[in-house]
Amino acid sequence: MANHILLVDSSTPARMLTSSLLKAHHYEVTVCRTLSEAAPKVRGFPPDVVIAALRDRAPGELMAELQERLIVARDEQAPLVLFLDPEATPQRRLDALSAGARDVIATPLADLLFLARLRGVLREAHGLREVERRQSAAASFGFAESTSPFLAASSVALVTTEDAAHTGFAQLAATFGSRFKRLTLEQALAGERGEASRDVFVLDCANTAARQMLSALPDLRARDHSRHAAILVMHPSDDCDAAITALTSGASDLVGADALGDELVHRVQSLIRRKSDADDLRRNTESSMRLAATDPLTGLYNRRYADRYLSDVIENSNVTSEPFAVMMADIDHFKSVNDTYGHAAGDVILRTIASRISDNLRSIDLVARFGGEEFLVVMPGTDAERAGPAANRLRARICDDPIILEDGREITVTVSVGVTVGGARRLSAPQAAQSVLPPLRAEGAVADKLLGLADGALYCAKAAGRNRVEVALTPV
Ligand code: GH3
Ligand code: MG
Ligand code: MG
Repeated sequence: MANHILLVDSSTPARMLTSSLLKAHHYEVTVCRTLSEAAPKVRGFPPDVVIAALRDRAPGELMAELQERLIVARDEQAPLVLFLDPEATPQRRLDALSAGARDVIATPLADLLFLARLRGVLREAHGLREVERRQSAAASFGFAESTSPFLAASSVALVTTEDAAHTGFAQLAATFGSRFKRLTLEQALAGERGEASRDVFVLDCANTAARQMLSALPDLRARDHSRHAAILVMHPSDDCDAAITALTSGASDLVGADALGDELVHRVQSLIRRKSDADDLRRNTESSMRLAATDPLTGLYNRRYADRYLSDVIENSNVTSEPFAVMMADIDHFKSVNDTYGHAAGDVILRTIASRISDNLRSIDLVARFGGEEFLVVMPGTDAERAGPAANRLRARICDDPIILEDGREITVTVSVGVTVGGARRLSAPQAAQSVLPPLRAEGAVADKLLGLADGALYCAKAAGRNRVEVALTPV
């Protein structure tokens, strides 16, 4: 987690007070009087967040100095900046945000609120670092991480009562046009029928029923349609408790009710950008997981994933006694197919067989490319009586129709299949009565034994002439 804070304040008593508060909460703090003093201290150890007291400086001017002194390398991620300011007037806040600061916090500090805001900003810094790491890892593999092109389509919901007014509300409506909608709390919680999920919810806790609005915040955070949305809470400017409650209940950002309309619009736009980054990160994580679990030629799961899946099925079956079938299918004489038609044709055949197997299984079944021309199928809820016929149907489906190659040539390929069945209820009563071995419980040992049995049955099918199914039923 991002943890390094640079604190810059020319007032010694205020600097000592803030730094001891931060240190008491175990932050790594570099403390300086001025930015020129700070620059050499943080070289090689860039801060995640800069907290700087504005004093008599204009936000834009201090921000420019900060960029100049602290950002050495061009590709370096700028730290997030929090300004401390005794005034923190709406205009000053807007100036600071427009200059690129993340926020302005009024001094003297309300400790709990300050720490809650800081936690949020550090979480954000952590997210930014993660995005940066992913991008550089992706670049070193020679491909760019995909980034969301949908910024312009982002939509905003203002959750408020019908009569509530704030200059910012009209400004939001004007900025986002048809992508903006006023909703009641009930509508926001229920989700809008036929509408895509909103990217940002502005929760108006400043006008009426503020407490009710705040208590609904965790609920909005948890609902399917809004859990990934950014939530901006507008709170009464002097209500520190409401602000803290909002942050600890899942608000992404806060805005005081005294804010100018421009500040509200600015905060919403900045949330949209941050949400878009978070969406990219999530999408890329999902696609990396898919890449790690699938075989690139056929798109089927790979062996690593199949091993894991089989262990889960066995573990589940240890609890429920449910039977499950394990099948190993291997293409017959594939080497000579490759030799005759070429490797590229061989690849087309592998892909076609993969999709014929997937298309003929239930959604709960697993099919994986287990080796070169070998496929593993796991069928939960399938006992010894059903497994053989199911494997035979699959075998027939593969060889019944010829495969048409890219040049129009047709080829019929066959597969041999070895089948076995696991789970305490896999055998019929008479079969079970003959079973003398106690069941194995350790998933790894059971998986190896089942795979060995299916492989042995496959070997028998090959030896018996290929294009056939053999079932091995030994107590496991
Ligand atoms: P059997 O009926 O006994 O299984 O004979 P076979 O020729 O299918 O078995 P063998 O193990 O001798 O050969 C397997 C062939 O599968 C050899 C290999 O070139 C081919 N193969 C493995 N992976 C791929 C692949 O990704 N693409 C192509 N085109 N061929 C592959
Ligand atoms: Mg083969
Ligand atoms: Mg083989």
